[in-house]
Amino acid sequence: MSRFLKERLQGFDSYTPGEQPKDTEYIKLNTNESPYPPSPEVISRLKETDFMKLRLYPDPTGCQLKTKLAGLYGLEKENIFISNGSDDILNFAMMAFNGDDDVTVIPDITYSFYKSIMELHDISYETIPLRDDFSINAGDYVGLCKNIIIPNPNAPTGLTLSLSEIEEIVSSNPDNVVLIDEAYVDFGAQSAAGLVRKYDNLLVSQTFSKSRSFAGGRLGFAIGSPELISDLALIQYSTNPYNVNNLSLILAEAAVDSNDYYMKNCRHIEATREWTSGELEKLGFRVIPSKANFVFASHPEVSGDDIYRILKEKGILVRHFTQDRIRDYNRISIGTDEQMEMLVVRMKEILSESQSKGE
Ligand SMILES: *Cc1c(COP(=O)(O)O)cnc(C)c1O
Repeated sequence: MSRFLKERLQGFDSYTPGEQPKDTEYIKLNTNESPYPPSPEVISRLKETDFMKLRLYPDPTGCQLKTKLAGLYGLEKENIFISNGSDDILNFAMMAFNGDDDVTVIPDITYSFYKSIMELHDISYETIPLRDDFSINAGDYVGLCKNIIIPNPNAPTGLTLSLSEIEEIVSSNPDNVVLIDEAYVDFGAQSAAGLVRKYDNLLVSQTFSKSRSFAGGRLGFAIGSPELISDLALIQYSTNPYNVNNLSLILAEAAVDSNDYYMKNCRHIEATREWTSGELEKLGFRVIPSKANFVFASHPEVSGDDIYRILKEKGILVRHFTQDRIRDYNRISIGTDEQMEMLVVRMKEILSESQSKGE
């Protein structure tokens, strides 16, 4: 920290991104990336791309990509906003929709980036505890008259709300923005995207990072009423007008063209998730029923921290959180079938090693 950092940010606790180690070849199950390659169309578009395009600024409106995405969701391009990953959307939304008197509500256990971004912008927020089984009680969010952010599925639990629960939350807070973060929606939850025609206070954010093998390409998008979308554009133009680079725009268009490929991968990941959950349960794990590309699991005999640490020693990286309620859990991304078979083998070793120690 320099002596120039403004006072309010001294001691600021920033978001901690998942580890991206470069030293060892880990089986990387810690940041929910797709284990599958980009589609053949994306790869061939990358090879064909005229490198002179890098010389020019990108289209700041991303018009062509918006049009394609609107087609995918049966909406108009005025309903779509694109950005440099969906964290960018969260940031812009915080800047756009939170006045001095506004309070934003989030679940107590959720994507920890929300807290960081709100604290950065000095936004007041409140948390609502999940139920004991880690599910969100939709009723807690009905008629709050506060801005709301809920990921559906929630992270790191993988649990979902139904579309009718989301609709109840949105319709009962008509004068506040309800942001539904659908980073993991393609793995089995219901999207609220269609509701934006009916409710002008609903903003849905999605990303190409998880379901479209594009975490390194940084492409997120928001779906909302044309008015909400133009508010986000106002912030974009005033902070970073060319936030999505030329190459990502071109490749993301190819990704939308090959949507079937990605949705097929999602169905495969869902099957691998169910297999993994079953195997972990056989080993005595408590596995939260997930609709995302990860599972959240704890074991009654070995602490979450030990599992994280020993798995890492054995070459598998998962995500461990230190918040009290979830410190015994690890979030495990769903990789390929082979990677998950290896995970199960390593977990068996860990359990039998800890048993022989205990005896
Ligand atoms: C990964 C993730 C995001 C952001 O992903 P980007 O790579 O910035 O698009 C947003 N919300 C949740 C809940 C996530 O897990």
